[in-house]
Order: sequence, then C-alpha cells, then structure tokens
Amino acid sequence: MSAFLPVPPAERRGGRRLWRFLEWTLQADVAPDRPPVRHRFRCAGEYEDGQPCEEEGPVCDDFAEAQRWAYRHLKVHQDHRSYEHVAVTPWLMVPAEEPSP
Ligand SMILES: [Zn+2]
Repeated sequence: MSAFLPVPPAERRGGRRLWRFLEWTLQADVAPDRPPVRHRFRCAGEYEDGQPCEEEGPVCDDFAEAQRWAYRHLKVHQDHRSYEHVAVTPWLMVPAEEPSP
C-alpha cells in the first residue's frame, strides 16, 4: 500500500510557498539491524457478567516470557481461556524519493 502525502515547503520561492507530494510506502523493516519482533498476549475472555477482560501482559522480546503472562492470568481467572497474540514488528515509511531540504 502506498499514498501520496503533501510535503511542507522548505523555502519560499518568489513569495509563494511551494508544496509538493511524495509517494510513501509502508513496508516491513527487513534490515539485518532492525529492532527485534516483540510479543504480547491479551486476554480475550469475559467475566461472568459478559464484560470483556482485555487485560494484557507486557510487551516482551522473548516469546516464551510473553506466554508466561497468559499462564499467570489463567491462574487467577480460570474461565478466561481465549487469548490474542500481538506481534509487534518493525515497519518503515519509505518515500519513493528522499524529500529535498
Ligand atoms: Zn482475562
């Protein structure tokens, strides 16, 4: 997916502010030095009155550590058996060309 977005003018030319549009693409960061994927688990269970729990564990670099939160949560709420795994992955906005200063 990409989108054209306005770039604010860096300078005035002839008293007019010149805006231009740049095409930006949102893409996964696949560079070797990208930040690590991080993990979080969120409870998708409900309380007896039907209210969603929505409690969530911490964002962790280690997948097993993120899962441990779900086990701790289950210990306290044994009827909360549905969970969502949230993977935090690094993404970048990449311009079709670098904006000139
Ligand atoms: Zn819960």
